[in-house]
Amino acid sequence: MKTNLLNYDLSGLTAYFAQMSEKPFRAKQVMRWMHLGGAGDFDEMTDLAKSLRTKLQAEAQISVPALMAEQKSVDGTHKWLLDVGTGNGVETVFIPENSRGTLCISSQIGCALECLFCSTGRQGFNRNLSTAEIIGQLWWANKALGVTPKNERVISNVVMMGMGEPLANFDNVVTALSIMLDDHGYGLSRRRVTVSTSGMVPQMDRLKEVMPVALAVSLHASNDKVRDQIVPLNKKYPLKELMAACQRYLVKAPRDFITFEYVMLNRVNDEPAHARELIELVKDVPCKFNLIPFNPFPNSGFERSDHERIRVFRDILQEAGMIVTVRKTRGDDIDAACGQLAGKVQDKTQRQHKWQLLHKDES
Ligand code: SAH
Ligand code: SF4
Repeated sequence: MKTNLLNYDLSGLTAYFAQMSEKPFRAKQVMRWMHLGGAGDFDEMTDLAKSLRTKLQAEAQISVPALMAEQKSVDGTHKWLLDVGTGNGVETVFIPENSRGTLCISSQIGCALECLFCSTGRQGFNRNLSTAEIIGQLWWANKALGVTPKNERVISNVVMMGMGEPLANFDNVVTALSIMLDDHGYGLSRRRVTVSTSGMVPQMDRLKEVMPVALAVSLHASNDKVRDQIVPLNKKYPLKELMAACQRYLVKAPRDFITFEYVMLNRVNDEPAHARELIELVKDVPCKFNLIPFNPFPNSGFERSDHERIRVFRDILQEAGMIVTVRKTRGDDIDAACGQLAGKVQDKTQRQHKWQLLHKDES
């Protein structure tokens, strides 16, 4: 089996070349070719000796998931479905805006955490993505968008808000982050790469030590009673512990703030009383709020809060001095909006089956 070099960050590649008795600078060269140059073959690496290229060809490969499907929304949002084997596919979304281009990437095939309002959660879980499969999404998008080392960087920000819970796939995600931040990789700054978590407290503590990138926390409720119901992980790490973990994170990411994501679910978590409770909950955490109008999917059982309810909720937070944005829904004509990414998941947990049995009388 050939070694896929896309699984390595700079330290991994350096170790790989060391065991081949090659100099450390080879690692930097190869890394630049693969990520900045988008090379998919060692023959493209013209400044490597022919003998080394031949050796690499025999032992190693640069292997990215194949493209299964591609869709472009009327608003410019671009979605790719990538083949990750055995009938599974994961989705990556590019969202162009005036001053930046954001790539939303996936970390797992499905998700094991079962948040009630999330289409990925409903799909069940299959497996973690490898580092190559995670970074391969960036590699693909750069190529598809026509990025070369010379022209302007189209992808300026990366958010790990696609399918899966990134911190449940900790090691592979951290290695991928390391490639994103490396100057020989994608050279993105720490604040332009965001990990979004549903609140895995021990892993948040680990992330701050090894790679304190921007952190978004999927809050979605102002008290444990509501959160226990819609984000089951809350039973393990309730709000008090989550808030303390956010504070600890910011000690290692000074001058940063936590972005709290809050999906607006009609009459579930969107009452004015909830907004007031939120203000009290986050009072010791430097933060911003991102209110996400719920994106529906078949049989979700939830409704999106209407404009007026979102406006009232936002105003209460703003009057208390919070910075609040309401996320624009992008790409929903191609099911590329938050929480709509379903990919193709061969569910190993049988959740889809159990769920269908439970709800068979409703549809
Ligand atoms: N697992 C991670 C990251 C992926 S989800 C997490 O939960 O944070 C990215 C964001 O989309 C999360 O805040 C998630 O709660 C939200 N989301 C999930 N389903 C949604 C839906 N149907 N409509 C709107 N947002 C949704
Ligand atoms: Fe998983 Fe995030 Fe969806 Fe929850 S919201 S099920 S953690 S992907």
